[in-house]
Amino acid sequence: YVFSVSDLEISRAQIPKPVDQLAEEIGLLPEELEAYGRSKAKVRLSVLERLQSQPNGKYILVAGITPTPLGEGKSTVTVGLVQALSAHLKLNSFACLRQPSQGPTFGVKGGAAGGGYAQVIPMEEFNLHLTGDIHAITAANNLVAAAIDARMLHEATQSDKALFNRLVPSVNGVRKFSPIQISRLQRLGIRKTDPASLTPEEINAFVRLDLDPSKITWQRGIFINRQILCTGFDIAVASEIMAILALADSLEDMKNRLARMVVGTSCSGQPITAEDLGVSGALAVLMKDAIKPTLMQTLEGTPVFVHAGPFANIAHGNSSVLADKLALKLVGQDGFVVTEAGFGADIGMEKFFNIKCRASGLRPSVVVLVATVRALKMHGGGPNVSAGAPLPREYTDENLSLVAGGCCSNLKKQIQIAHLFGVPVVVAVNVFKTDTQAEIDLVCQIAKDCGASDALPCNHWAQGGRGSSELAQAVKEAASKPSDFQFLYNTEMPIVEKIRTIAQRVYGADDIELSPEAKSKTDYYHQQGYGSLPICMAKTHLSLSHMPDKKGAPTGFVLPIRDVRASIGAGFIYPLVGTMSTMPGLPTRPCFYDIDLDPVTEEITGLF
Ligand code: ADP
Repeated sequence: YVFSVSDLEISRAQIPKPVDQLAEEIGLLPEELEAYGRSKAKVRLSVLERLQSQPNGKYILVAGITPTPLGEGKSTVTVGLVQALSAHLKLNSFACLRQPSQGPTFGVKGGAAGGGYAQVIPMEEFNLHLTGDIHAITAANNLVAAAIDARMLHEATQSDKALFNRLVPSVNGVRKFSPIQISRLQRLGIRKTDPASLTPEEINAFVRLDLDPSKITWQRGIFINRQILCTGFDIAVASEIMAILALADSLEDMKNRLARMVVGTSCSGQPITAEDLGVSGALAVLMKDAIKPTLMQTLEGTPVFVHAGPFANIAHGNSSVLADKLALKLVGQDGFVVTEAGFGADIGMEKFFNIKCRASGLRPSVVVLVATVRALKMHGGGPNVSAGAPLPREYTDENLSLVAGGCCSNLKKQIQIAHLFGVPVVVAVNVFKTDTQAEIDLVCQIAKDCGASDALPCNHWAQGGRGSSELAQAVKEAASKPSDFQFLYNTEMPIVEKIRTIAQRVYGADDIELSPEAKSKTDYYHQQGYGSLPICMAKTHLSLSHMPDKKGAPTGFVLPIRDVRASIGAGFIYPLVGTMSTMPGLPTRPCFYDIDLDPVTEEITGLF
């Protein structure tokens, strides 16, 4: 195996099999496929109905220790594991991954197709536009924003009567409400269907949403960057519409969730929804193709679904419920579906269980916790590293005491967090070429002492699936044992208690402290009847605490809750922890400096 080639070169050296051949191999019918070019296709949701009586396969979650700039490799492990399960253990297997966001791809991290000999191919297609889902989300976000602007302008400049005549136009002398309008009337308590029978007061209530300009919570969607001199933008992948795509379990469910999205508050304090704006049907139209997962393949030709891509720090960080459900049917009872939760287990996995599993009803059999020797050394007290600079010797030479420090703090804590949910943990040590055998053995030993069912090194990055066959065997064994899954909190608990439970039991905080704004928002959400939604913490991914520079497993801190917001359509309350920003920016020298296109060969360079 050649170590000096880039992920892009490895990907390009392998010609993917035609997607219709892949589809046939995994039991899809030709009419269930919508091809986008030669190597990727959307899969129709009708498969779920056809395979209704088929038992589900085993469901495996890949999560990680707290990320460091040294990299952990969760996506790489996910791909390596399915390659090992399929090609080496001869079990049906499927990987379900998130679609990368352009922010990380062109910013700091690069793509998210895995790496080395454990990748989704063609990686350029995976990392760029794919099948346009994020574009659809951006368009849908902006349509809602345009609907708000237009409605406020028209309400400010027109009388009730003029508004009514335009909102309910007369066709051949007859005015008729649309279904969306009838549902708004019902929410206002007006049980009339004949427009001519509305009183002037009812007309006033119907036509005036009366949005309070200072209480509009909706943001326009953009792809990458926040560095603009006004408020009002959200990165599309962290938007509520992305979360809805990831959590919906049918077209109808997506439509209902889109309709329930709250865009702001009226001057009298009532929540105003996308349905009140009359825009929810149009949003469903924009999103109708995005709801179908995209089928691709690994370097070893095994199937992958790529679908939805919410960030794990400011959103819920997990790929779609629908892709997992489809994959679980397609692999059948003895097969395996491996999905991935973003960032560390304290955020991605916690949200996977408390939000995604609650929405889907699915329960994973095993958590694979990814760790690297290098990252553990940083958690054990190793020096910070800056991008592009040579690695300090602590990371290239054997250093058992730093490894032990990281294992006994961060790794131990992340194993304990998975155990809070009653699911067995297999630790995967993603081997880098600088790791020594003694360091790898030490990680495996401490992981087992901390209660992991098993802990093994894996070499898929250098060797493909073959390098992860022992991990695959360990996962298979752990999945055959009964797991005792439980949620961390009951959603009926008050919002503040749910936040406190996550802060204390997952992050290790002594307590939480709410700002006055967070407190009053929490009270408002309870009054509005949103109190029993699960919680999606927006917290830094770089530490178990709210302080990005505190590595290991910090203790003795109080978690500050700056604000609390609500995504009613997606179905969660999201507290903002500390100084967490909901709009990441680009660094001074983003990855895009190195990305280029050869106009003659049309070859892309510099993606990784
Ligand atoms: P994560 O999912 O944890 O963010 P990825 O799997 O996307 O991490 O990997 C990040 C980067 O690290 C990729 O460019 C990948 O090629 C590289 N990488 C992963 N594992 C290894 C390894 N064992 N050796 C060298 N590079 C690796």
